Amino acid sequence: MTPALPLPGIVAPIQMVDLKNQYLRIKPAIDAAIQECLDTTAFIKGPQVGAFEQRLAQYLDVKHVISCANGTDALQLGMMALDLRPGDEVIVPAFTYVATAEVIALLGLKPVMVDVDPATFTLTRESIEKALSPRTRLVVPVHLFGQCADMAEITSVCQQHGLAIIEDTAQAVGATYTFRDGTTKAAGAMGDLGTTSFFPSKNLGCFGDGGAVYTNQDELAHKVKMIGNHGQARKYVHETIGVNSRLDTIQAAILLEKLKHLDSYTQARQQVARRYDEAFRNVEAIQTPYRNPDSTHVFHQYTLKVPANKRDGLKAYLSEKKIPSMIYYPIPLNAQKAYQGVGRVVGDLSVTQDLCQRVISLPMHTELSDDQITYITETVIDYFA
Ligand SMILES: *Cc1c(COP(=O)(O)O)cnc(C)c1O
Repeated sequence: MTPALPLPGIVAPIQMVDLKNQYLRIKPAIDAAIQECLDTTAFIKGPQVGAFEQRLAQYLDVKHVISCANGTDALQLGMMALDLRPGDEVIVPAFTYVATAEVIALLGLKPVMVDVDPATFTLTRESIEKALSPRTRLVVPVHLFGQCADMAEITSVCQQHGLAIIEDTAQAVGATYTFRDGTTKAAGAMGDLGTTSFFPSKNLGCFGDGGAVYTNQDELAHKVKMIGNHGQARKYVHETIGVNSRLDTIQAAILLEKLKHLDSYTQARQQVARRYDEAFRNVEAIQTPYRNPDSTHVFHQYTLKVPANKRDGLKAYLSEKKIPSMIYYPIPLNAQKAYQGVGRVVGDLSVTQDLCQRVISLPMHTELSDDQITYITETVIDYFA
């Protein structure tokens, strides 16, 4: 017998992401960290910035972490450091957040939009191979929703063709990937460069904007750092044209505190995912997230695939029952107005098209209570009953 639906009245309001309660749990430490920044007024390049970069580098087991203003800038700094030339082609998944492609276009490079794997929603060897041209220089795998793309295959095909890799790990901070020889690496530590975002709703979020670039290569680290600081290696000596992209000291101080909790945040998300999986196991219309056996999944999003003709109805039904949900992503990159005639589209992108019709992401954060999860799963099941 299934238990009766709890009354909405006894379930606390459900949010897609609950930043408030996450903050309240560590309020004293966060408030003290911010107060210290106010007391010292070292708002730019205060000691917390370097300390956070070091701590994150240790956590990821990567040689260099260079912080910057946001995850989009991180991609831009990384691409500028690779000395690409206008017209060079960069392979990106068509099923991703727009930031991945926009800096490519801004830098005069050509985004080449390719299809993704139907199970992991990430780039595959085949999609990269189909997209190759004499101008291909760079591949940007996106570890979408918190799970690594198949990096063994991707690094192998990129090595074979002399292509650089920038991993977009904005949604996968803390995920790891294990190669066939047993080596385990952090998302972002496998390509030439990795980038991430500390946007508040990301798995490691600050209280505003922030981002970082990772690399194991000294020369690239030096370039990224220089480009993010007006192209100067020394004050007022400008070696290249750069930009201004910094992580504020206050954000670094907050991130230093939150990084201590990242593993427990990840476990909380994985626990919610297990509860969702279990509840939906026998619902024929629902496909729960596939797990790549070579990667951990940190569940930036918990994304279901449902029949295309039921998806919008489910979203409306959930909304009626006060359960938020989101469609990541409703429109493929290549179909966006801004990208008409920009770059190149490879094949019919049938998987991407299908996903845009069928995906729906449920509330996923570190503060979901058992009652809330039960209410969400029973409401979803109710819709398909
Ligand atoms: C959030 C996100 C970005 C951009 O990060 P910002 O900090 O918002 O600039 C880039 N790529 C992906 C996949 C993202 O999810």
